[in-house]
Amino acid sequence: MLTPDADKNYEVTYATRPYPVSDEPAPVYCQGDPDDVFDVVFIPDTDITTMSDFYDNCRGAISEAFFDEPHTRYWRRQYNFYINPDEGTATDYDLISTDGYHQVPSNNASLLFAEGRVLMHQNSLRDYAYGGLFSTEMQNRGTIMHESGHSLYSLADEYGSGVHWQEAELPNNWSSLAGAQAAGSTYGSCKSPSDATEMGTSGWYHLCVSDCQMITSGSNHTEYDCPCKYRITYTVLDNAIN
Ligand SMILES: [Zn+2]
Repeated sequence: MLTPDADKNYEVTYATRPYPVSDEPAPVYCQGDPDDVFDVVFIPDTDITTMSDFYDNCRGAISEAFFDEPHTRYWRRQYNFYINPDEGTATDYDLISTDGYHQVPSNNASLLFAEGRVLMHQNSLRDYAYGGLFSTEMQNRGTIMHESGHSLYSLADEYGSGVHWQEAELPNNWSSLAGAQAAGSTYGSCKSPSDATEMGTSGWYHLCVSDCQMITSGSNHTEYDCPCKYRITYTVLDNAIN
């Protein structure tokens, strides 16, 4: 009997102390050519006191976030993950005026190939993206999935006070009600034009359910609703063929 692929389990072990290639992130889970798949680098923050907690959370981000959310799990052969040897320092979004922006790791120039550069910190901060990397509490599976939505797939926020734009191909935000309603009939039985709603009083519209991952963040991940899934599939294929 064939075992359904979704039930497949496997473990990858690796050595990173030290990874013998200086200034390069150590690959810890590889599925394909970096040009064809999404590359995600986990960067330890200077605030981490116990590095084994960081390594455990790198593993957790893979198995309990990317490979647990159904749609990114479906595309699990389209990701490479890496651990960075050099640290960065995250700052709080609300304290940028005094603390400055995130400090990137000294080998940041070697990380430019990666679509996802994740500054994993221990202390609670208001997270944001800067200099090509985004921050998250290292244990927050919801935050890493929400922020990956921005950095890997160009998904916009779906809450009223967020950042909104309309992608040319398979957006998850629309700049008009009519545009969102028209798109509502293009997702089969998943959506209908009546799902089009304004996000707060932003003047922007979306179709997803209220707990779509592009609305929520925090400890636990939710799921991407189908307009977001369509966008993810589009970017996976675009990344693979271009
Ligand atoms: Zn969504």
